[in-house]
Amino acid sequence: MTNPSVIGRLDIEKIRTLFPVLHQQVNGKPLIYLDNAATTQKPISVLKALGHYYQSDNANIHRAAHTLAARATEYYEASRHTVKEFIHASEVEECIFTKGTTEGINLVAQSWGRSKLKVGDEVLISGMEHHSNIVPWQLISEEKGATLRVIPMNEAGELVMDEFEKLLSPKTKMVAVVYASNALGTINPVKEIIAKSHAAGAKVLIDGAQATSHIPIDVQDLGCDFFVFSAHKVYGPTGVGVLYGKRELLQQMPPYQGGGEMIKEVTFEQSTWNELPYKFEAGTPNIADVIAFKYALEFVNETGKEKIAAHEKELLLAFTDGLTKFGHTIQLIGTAANKVSVQSFLIKGQHPFDTGMLMDAKGIAVRTGHHCTQPLMKRFGVEGTVRASFAVYNTLDEVKVLLEAVHGLTKQVNK
Ligand code: PMP
Repeated sequence: MTNPSVIGRLDIEKIRTLFPVLHQQVNGKPLIYLDNAATTQKPISVLKALGHYYQSDNANIHRAAHTLAARATEYYEASRHTVKEFIHASEVEECIFTKGTTEGINLVAQSWGRSKLKVGDEVLISGMEHHSNIVPWQLISEEKGATLRVIPMNEAGELVMDEFEKLLSPKTKMVAVVYASNALGTINPVKEIIAKSHAAGAKVLIDGAQATSHIPIDVQDLGCDFFVFSAHKVYGPTGVGVLYGKRELLQQMPPYQGGGEMIKEVTFEQSTWNELPYKFEAGTPNIADVIAFKYALEFVNETGKEKIAAHEKELLLAFTDGLTKFGHTIQLIGTAANKVSVQSFLIKGQHPFDTGMLMDAKGIAVRTGHHCTQPLMKRFGVEGTVRASFAVYNTLDEVKVLLEAVHGLTKQVNK
């Protein structure tokens, strides 16, 4: 990751003025929002775009001659164009709007999986997947008689690449892995995983939910077949996500859902399908949120992902260094060499939920629980963790307050 002094610093106080929600008291203390891996806050440009759409342009898209519909359609498709640029897809038609990461994975599992998987085939996932990149593959594997295999992790929470290579075989038809773990922060070597999977004849889906706000994404350079992410983790609205797929694959795949917009012609006997991307966008989409999403991506572009990543890395290092100083009273979970700004930990002798409640009393929002990664929790022998996850608007002062709060709790538990 780039050194912050080389790429220039961000004016975090200025950035914070763009996020109205940050400026409030919670339980009598200034809010410190450190649950960014669950969802990020939204800049004012996104909030304004939502209001503006409903006040000035609200109309259903694609199927009308009137002016409002034309405007709504234009803005909706402009968002798709921004997404295409943001992830460096070669064509806008390869960018499908979904409800989010979960829907994107289900779409691929149900459409690609149902049409391609056969008895004896294997789907390879990793031990650090979110439930949304486990369960859809379990459902389709069970239906098609395929087997789910799992790439193991080491103690630091890194994938064991030798084991990955051993698991790859001509039976492997799909490798579905997370780019960055939501529970551990680990950044996986996805480019290497993609190249090796392709050499073995498998397709690859990358779950980019946690990577997209921190790491520059270039789907062509990565070479993945599918890439999914959610707008709400990249400073955009909830209810919107993107499925990128290579045109050749998307063209072969049957529709995921039937309904309006996804058809070319319907008779009672049979129907034919619309062109990409509409074949996979049945029904009225989440027009307002898709339109507002563009402004979130523009916020990231204007701020600069490298600068964002460098700032977040500084926060992460300050936090993990601080925790390490508390010695044996803290258990760190997720100590990979290459990480996004997520740190899971436990205060020894305290249930993570209690830690979360006590933090909330101090205005600090952290997430506690299994983070929708129960198999990962089992691997580390814990029920859940406390997770702090940092975004561009977080500050070193906030990290200081967090560390003081953790320190106070360790002293309370261990007195
Ligand atoms: N994958 C990862 C790595 C995630 O962090 C999340 C959200 N926590 C998801 C998938 C699911 O995303 P969504 O709920 O937005 O569909």
